[in-house]
Order: sequence, then C-alpha cells, then structure tokens
Amino acid sequence: MPLPEKLHLPISRRMFVSGAATVAASPLLVTPEGGHIRIPSHMGEKLPAGLFTLGVASGDPLPDGVVLWTRLAPAPLTGGGMPDKPVAVEWEIAEDDRFRRGRRRGVTTADPRLGHSVHVDVRGLRPDAEYHYRFRAGKQISPAGRTRTAPAARSRPHHLRFAFASCQDYQAGFYTAYQHLANEDLAFVAFLGDYIYEGARNPNAARHHEGTGEPYSLEQYRNRHAQYKTDADLQAAHAAFPWIVTFDDHELDNNWADEVPQDPALQTPEAFRARRIAAFQAYYEHMPLRRTSLPSGLDIQVYRRLRFGSLASLHVVDTRQYRSDQPATLEAAQDPSLTMTGAEQERWLVDGLESAGSRWNLLANQVMWASNDRKAGPEQVFDFDNWDGYRVQRRRLLERFGAGRVSNPVVLTGDRHCTWACDLRPDFDDPSSPIVGAEITGTSITSGGNPDTAAFHATYDPIMADSPHWRYIDNQRGYVVCDVTATRMVSSLRLVDTVWAPSASVRTAAEFVVEAGRPGITAVTQEQATARAASRWAGPVYDVHDDEDAFPLRR
Ligand code: FE
Ligand code: CA
Repeated sequence: MPLPEKLHLPISRRMFVSGAATVAASPLLVTPEGGHIRIPSHMGEKLPAGLFTLGVASGDPLPDGVVLWTRLAPAPLTGGGMPDKPVAVEWEIAEDDRFRRGRRRGVTTADPRLGHSVHVDVRGLRPDAEYHYRFRAGKQISPAGRTRTAPAARSRPHHLRFAFASCQDYQAGFYTAYQHLANEDLAFVAFLGDYIYEGARNPNAARHHEGTGEPYSLEQYRNRHAQYKTDADLQAAHAAFPWIVTFDDHELDNNWADEVPQDPALQTPEAFRARRIAAFQAYYEHMPLRRTSLPSGLDIQVYRRLRFGSLASLHVVDTRQYRSDQPATLEAAQDPSLTMTGAEQERWLVDGLESAGSRWNLLANQVMWASNDRKAGPEQVFDFDNWDGYRVQRRRLLERFGAGRVSNPVVLTGDRHCTWACDLRPDFDDPSSPIVGAEITGTSITSGGNPDTAAFHATYDPIMADSPHWRYIDNQRGYVVCDVTATRMVSSLRLVDTVWAPSASVRTAAEFVVEAGRPGITAVTQEQATARAASRWAGPVYDVHDDEDAFPLRR
C-alpha cells in the first residue's frame, strides 16, 4: 500500500540539493542550535541504492521535542547491506508538509554499531503542534513523516485522541488494521508489545517470516525487525503519528521472565543472556526511542512517563525485565514475593500515579490485570503469565488505585489477542470489593488471524456469567481509539473484517465509556449478532492461542 494521500509530499529536491551544496563547500554544517557539526569525510562517497526501505518514524513526544527515527537498510533481510562505516544523515523538520515554515535541520550519524539506525532527539519545538520530517543520506531522500508534540506541561487541553495497538504477528496476516489506523486523527499511537514474533517460518501461514529459524543473534533480530518494518501499512502508520512503544515477550522469546527463557532446558543462562542483549539492541535500533533507552549491559530502560498537559499521563510499564518467573499453580501465585515489575519500578509507578497531577492516569501495559478465568463453572483456570500469576502485587497496586490519591486510572493492555473491557477490583473474587479503575485489553493487529467468533462466544460467554467484572469480550482483529476529555474517556473498538487479504473494511464494533470520578467501565455495544448466534453453538471449544506465533490459513 502506498502512503496515505496526505503524506505524499512533493519532495523539494531544490532545498536538499542546496543543502548538499553547502555540505560540499564546507566541512562544517551549522546546526539549528548555532553549533557546528563536522561532516564525516565519506559523506560524498557513493552509497547503495534504496537506503530508506524501512520508512521513517517518530516517538515519545514531549512539549518541546520528539524523537525522529530511520535506519539505512538497502538489504533489509540480509544484515542491512550498508558499508561497515559511519554515514552522515541529514534530518529536517518543518511546520508544513512542503518544508518551508519553521524549518530546522541538522546532521547525525548512522553508526554501523547500531545497524545504521538514526535516532534524533529534536528539541526546541512548539507544544501541541504538528510537524513534518524527513532524512537525506548521500543523494537519497527518505519518505516524509508527520508527527506532533505534546501539549505544554502547564496547559489544560480539552481533548486528547490517541490509539493503542499490540500483537502484529507478520505470519498471522496482513496489517489491514494499520491502513485504517493511519487515516485516523490521533495525537499518538501507544504500542503495547509483540511488535515482532520470534517464531520460525511457518510454511502454512498467511505470510512467511524471513530466515530459517528463531532469531538468536543480533543480525537475526535485525533481519526480523527489518522484515516487519518493510510492510507498507506499518510504515504508513509510523509516518502518520508519533508512537510510544513498549515490548512484551515475543520481541525476545515467548513468555520470558527476566533472565529465564520459555524453555530453560533448551537455552543455557549464558545463551539466553546473549540472546536478550541481541534482541534489546535490535529493538532499540528499530524503535523511535530516546537515547535514554539505549541498552546497557543486559538491560534496556523502557518504563517511562509521558504527560499531555493536565489532562493525562501515560505511564509506560515494563512487565518482563524485572518479573519473577511465572508460578505453576494457583497456590504458588499467592506468594507475596512474586513481582511483575520489580520493587524499583513498583515504587516509580505508585509515586508517579499519586503525584502525576493529571486528570487521567493511563497505563501502557502488556498483560491483563483483570482476573481472567478460562473455565466455566466454579473451577478456575488461569494463565499465570498474566497478573493472575502475581496476585499479591496486583492487589497491593489496585488498593493504591482505590486509596483516593490516583486520579482516574485506566489500564490499556495488549497480549490477549482479544478484547476484554473490565472493571478492576482489588479482589476479583469478592463482589463487595470496590471498583477502583478500568482496563481495556485491546485485540491485536494480526495475531490470532481471522477469528472463529462463534466458538469464542460459546466458550467465553458462560465464563462471563461467572465474571461480573468482564463488561465486554470479543476476539476480532483491530485497534482501539481513545477520546479523552476532562469528564470522560470514550474508547472505540475498531475492527477489520479480515487480515487474510491485503485490504479490509473497518467499523466501530463497540464503545467503552469511563466517566471521570466514577471508576469502572460501561460497554456500549453496537454488535450483538455474534453473541446471540453463539448461544446455539455446538462446535468445538475456542482455544485462545495466546502464545502461538503463526496460524495456518484455513480456507
Ligand atoms: Fe501477542
Ligand atoms: Ca470458572
């Protein structure tokens, strides 16, 4: 798919050509800040064609700045294809899409040690303003992207509109959801994890992963990320808005926890640590993250907070790097020493929630907080990779939500490949436990493929009858758009009719309403037909497939 029409910009070669002339005439380039940058001597050397195969992106908007990203990769699936030396990359940002007004520019270096990725932390921008940006390396000019800064810290915005998305298994289908997301009117996109999947090529899948197996080395993770980034719909979604990203498990290994892999019998601790380092470096190289997220040793700093004036704070959490290994039984899940976040991040989260001074406190989160029993009747069966496995810490945090100092907490969640709108209570088994917040678990871009909706409702509607905190469930593909004002937050479930064809239509299947000052969520359902049909279902039990990485096409 081409970029959306509004992003088809007439490339002003004249301007970049004049910039090149300046570079050729002088070894120094004047930066917007008035300093000088020495242009590397190989600036004029011939570079391979097709440097910008991975598109452009921006991220982590601040009131005065944003991160601009690209990676030079003329051979994206085979190591990148760049010469093993640093390359100067010019960047340019302007208020208009013809790059005439308020133009700022500079030069950065695409370093082979970071896969020739580029992360420019542009500052000095105006708050709550749209900008357009692009890059140049040698004579090649990147596609242009559009981005937006955050509102000023002391401002009181009336409205914030953003989307959140998760779980984009390339093999499970086409990114039809991003075709529509790219045309929404959004301040940002929050991506909640499973940006890549580490699974090996599945010959029966909708599309095929590169390579012959799971990635382990830096080059293998680079190739996997690069393959995802070559998708035109994903590129369009990145080029349309700044993204605020966090990862879950599949960016490294299914269900990993800190230094423990999915299958400790098959990956030694040393090998898994090396794998983690490689995966995090490739993740940083491909994401529009600030330099503060540059990996160091085994770790990458991803939990962080972004603020949108007094209206909302977005607390981005990391529930993988610091967590205890998953418990195996419900009894083990009651162990008070188990942690999903680590003690330091828990303090950071609680302090931030209580002192944010924001009307809304939104969590960009990976796995479900709300209790999610998977068996009808009195017996309860849980996936302990979710917060159900870390229930003492969950209760402690939800009690903070309800203690009067956290303003309007709403947890935004990925991972589940289904939609689950829930009330949050410190004790989900006690109907007298107060409602202290809301959670929206928001479907997936592709993971799970085209769903069997009737089987899903036949399996889960009876469990819903035992789970009064579940307010809406669904298993179709898409994303969620959230409209936030001082008085309420309305989240629209946007669903596509297929991910097994290159394009699809989109519709709003339901709206979830959270009123400020009244914890809990109400689902305004627009589609009832599937649930009614499911009451007559006599087919197989629906398998949620949370952990699978590829889905055979069934025709
Ligand atoms: Fe996933
Ligand atoms: Ca049950």
